[in-house]
Amino acid sequence: MDNCIFCKIAAGKIPSNTVYEDEDFRVILDLNQGMKGHMLILPKEHYENFYELPDELAAKAMILAKKLSLAARKAFEKAGTPLDGLNILQNNGEAAGQSVMHYHLHVLPRIKGDDPLFPLWSEAAMESGDMKALAESLKGALES
Ligand code: 5GP
Ligand code: ZN
Repeated sequence: MDNCIFCKIAAGKIPSNTVYEDEDFRVILDLNQGMKGHMLILPKEHYENFYELPDELAAKAMILAKKLSLAARKAFEKAGTPLDGLNILQNNGEAAGQSVMHYHLHVLPRIKGDDPLFPLWSEAAMESGDMKALAESLKGALES
């Protein structure tokens, strides 16, 4: 993809603060360090989003996220500022907050009192019959 910034960064054509690289991925520091240690896992091949990502890469990305999470925990502990938590986040589509249309997985080390991500979801109740129908509809889609 000629005009994709993450393709260029992943290929090393644009410099980045690289934390890790292998044949499939480059892991960089996000430009936005409001949460210190915020990393992005970028596949080297262009896939727009999670729907497009091949299963093998989806699995590898999650295993890599775990390695990076453990490394972040170790690094922050060593620096004398132990982590209080960590988020793994991945946005698909503008409505979900995706701003760069090249699949990426966020690894977000958390310290108590840092920026809230966003209110994840509100507490809206659903009738039990509607919930049953919803679960059936999702189950049907999974099996079809
Ligand atoms: P999204 O909102 O698509 O899930 O996340 C895109 C992320 O990419 C944002 O957190 C943004 O700060 C980061 N970002 C956008 N452009 C660049 C860039 O050129 N370099 C780096 N390192 N991060 C970027
Ligand atoms: Zn791309």
